[in-house]
Amino acid sequence: MATSSHKILCGKCRVSVEGPTNPKDHDMITCPACGRSDKFKNVMRSVSAFVEEVAGRHLQESLGKAARGSTFLKVTSKPIPKGNHPFIADFKL
Ligand SMILES: [Zn+2]
Repeated sequence: MATSSHKILCGKCRVSVEGPTNPKDHDMITCPACGRSDKFKNVMRSVSAFVEEVAGRHLQESLGKAARGSTFLKVTSKPIPKGNHPFIADFKL
């Protein structure tokens, strides 16, 4: 995953977080608006979960559209719940 091409945002304020240019696992990443901060390692874990959630929902929607009107394809998957991610990414599909 090319995380360097996406901005990391605060999950609450949706503003770019501040940290070192090339953060290491133990470097602190901070939201300039609300002061929320965490180690880069934990921030990346939250961002990954967020990206997975967005990608999963997108895939599900595509499958739902493809299955509409088809008697062969039936999509019975449950909607993916919106997670509570402290940090997210400027990420669009
Ligand atoms: Zn914030």
